[in-house]
Amino acid sequence: MKAVAVFPGPQEVRLIEQEFPRLTQPDQVMLRMLDIGICGTDKEICSFEYGTPPPGDDYLVIGHESLAEVVEVGTAVERLRPGDLVVPSVRRPCPHPGCLACRSGHQDYCYTGDFSERGIKDAHGYLAEYVVDHEQYMNTVPLHLRDIAVLAEPLTIAEKALAQIFWMMQQRPPWTDPETPSEERGRGLSALVLGIGPVGLLGAMVLVTAGFTTYVYSREQPPSPRIDLVEAIGATYVSSQTATFGQLRRQIGNIDLVYEAVGHSHFALQALHILGTNGIFVLTGVPGLQAFVEADPAHLMREMVLNNQVLLGTVNAGPDAFTSALRDLGRFRRQWPAVVSTLIADRYPPEQAPELILGRPAGIKSVIAF
Ligand SMILES: [Zn+2]
Ligand SMILES: [Zn+2]
Repeated sequence: MKAVAVFPGPQEVRLIEQEFPRLTQPDQVMLRMLDIGICGTDKEICSFEYGTPPPGDDYLVIGHESLAEVVEVGTAVERLRPGDLVVPSVRRPCPHPGCLACRSGHQDYCYTGDFSERGIKDAHGYLAEYVVDHEQYMNTVPLHLRDIAVLAEPLTIAEKALAQIFWMMQQRPPWTDPETPSEERGRGLSALVLGIGPVGLLGAMVLVTAGFTTYVYSREQPPSPRIDLVEAIGATYVSSQTATFGQLRRQIGNIDLVYEAVGHSHFALQALHILGTNGIFVLTGVPGLQAFVEADPAHLMREMVLNNQVLLGTVNAGPDAFTSALRDLGRFRRQWPAVVSTLIADRYPPEQAPELILGRPAGIKSVIAF
């Protein structure tokens, strides 16, 4: 069967032939992979900046954003049956008995760093025709989300961030009542999304559905399908080519939330200066090596203390975030059917994966389909 792998030694990315996998434990399921989304992480792995093969292998099968059909189940599998659709989670627990996070099913908060991530770190990914995995890491997908469920994994970034923000909003200003319906929790508050890639756009969609007055700020200028999408969901797009951070702050007023989805450290640092009183700043981008920049940490520290600000980093994601992501994909479809139909730019055969991953991203999300 076909798979797409990176070979860090000779620095190659290519289609490989593999043996069909087999169930070896009773809690396993056999997955026929349907859709695999590609993203910036895949690009970094295929540029050999990141990514580790499983111990003993000289290659890593890539792919972590996926949708699969269950085709076979082990004898101890209870929840799943052949024909079910699933989105697998990516991060798997470390082996250490003392890791409270991993031992309680929260491996996205692992303390030791010895977790594995399918398609990224120490475990093969999902860009293969068939994959064997454990039932407990499968998130069941309603059949009507077949065409967009591959977006669930990248959407978990925003879902996990928002869950933490809402938890904080119950404890600190604006003191949201826990009973507040999810679509009203951001009512009266402003959110600024940095970046217009898939993570930023999906983040903006979550924020708009939660009731935030949402702005998206990025380099891009019209005409652009991504800017059209921002406007179609009722958010406001501002280009950094035409407005500075200072002008942006005057336009928005108090910025209650910044959702960073670029991975550019200098840009993020500048944005931190315009965060409002009692504001929360969420970092989701993982910067590579970047130019050293001058900063004024005393000024920044002073503003953060005097304004009760929160700076939060977050990496995806646990089971709750997957559940929320699948629920919200259904909600997006009901609210913006035309927009949702444009989220997946196109589906391509696996032979085209290397050039797609390393080329310029086309449309909003490119997907490999077997
Ligand atoms: Zn990704
Ligand atoms: Zn751990």
